[in-house]
Amino acid sequence: MRWIDTHCHLDAPEFGATTPSQRARAAANGVMHCVLPSIAVTNFEAVRALAHQNSDSYCLGITPMNVPYAADDALSQLTAAVQRHHGDPRLMAIGEIGLDFFLPELCKSPWRERQQDFFYTQLRLARAHDLPVVVHSRRAVDPILKALRQVAGPGGRWRGVVHAFNGSLQQAQAFTKLGFKLGFGGAVTYERARQLRTLATELPLDAIVMETDSPDMPPRWLYKSAEQRAAGEQQGINSPAELPRIGAELAALRGITPEALAAATTHNALDAFPRLAALLAADVARSTPSPLQETS
Ligand SMILES: [Zn+2]
Repeated sequence: MRWIDTHCHLDAPEFGATTPSQRARAAANGVMHCVLPSIAVTNFEAVRALAHQNSDSYCLGITPMNVPYAADDALSQLTAAVQRHHGDPRLMAIGEIGLDFFLPELCKSPWRERQQDFFYTQLRLARAHDLPVVVHSRRAVDPILKALRQVAGPGGRWRGVVHAFNGSLQQAQAFTKLGFKLGFGGAVTYERARQLRTLATELPLDAIVMETDSPDMPPRWLYKSAEQRAAGEQQGINSPAELPRIGAELAALRGITPEALAAATTHNALDAFPRLAALLAADVARSTPSPLQETS
């Protein structure tokens, strides 16, 4: 079975020196590829270097949570980085970008307007370079849909992923109609996440991609409650190695085999990220010595 983790932050400080061993553990569990989004100008080089080291891929973008900390020239630095690396087959998309109206301080002026400003500019950048987008959406589905429609123009479509999707079936359909896939991960492993679990089973199979968002969003088996943490237990660190188990739980909810979910979501990831098919084929060809090489 082969899984693709369409969203993990393997460069995050939580992993520290364990990134190589976590990536190896993921591979041993059947995760063949990881897409590493960036969050700010300061980690563009880190995700790019890691993607090249591990035969993975990366995205360039500035998250809404990082807008308050972004330098004045952050967007022009992003544009320059995209121009510089556009020919890099491991650059998959602009991301992660979006709007976050969950965190109270980000809802207020001037950050509310500045988030919008960053989002629109990054969407236009994706259009200009014919790249997909990885969208972060928290309490902001309607303004995000409005921005996507406005930038794409009438009848315009997108490619990419709405990551950690959590909304209604109608909202999900609005995104898939625009061409998006919806990312599901550890959140579906909690029984109390009734609405999300229902959505994850009702959506057509071709709408779904898998992601861990690690080190965040721990699945049920890694989660420690506030009381457990107060008693000294450590919060488990989520990693791409958890993806197959998360996938197995989602497959069970949908009443299909993990194999069928892995195959469908891999296919969907290739649809969301058009550069990925060629990249995977090239990586496989590189790791499998040809008969000619063996005999010469
Ligand atoms: Zn993320």
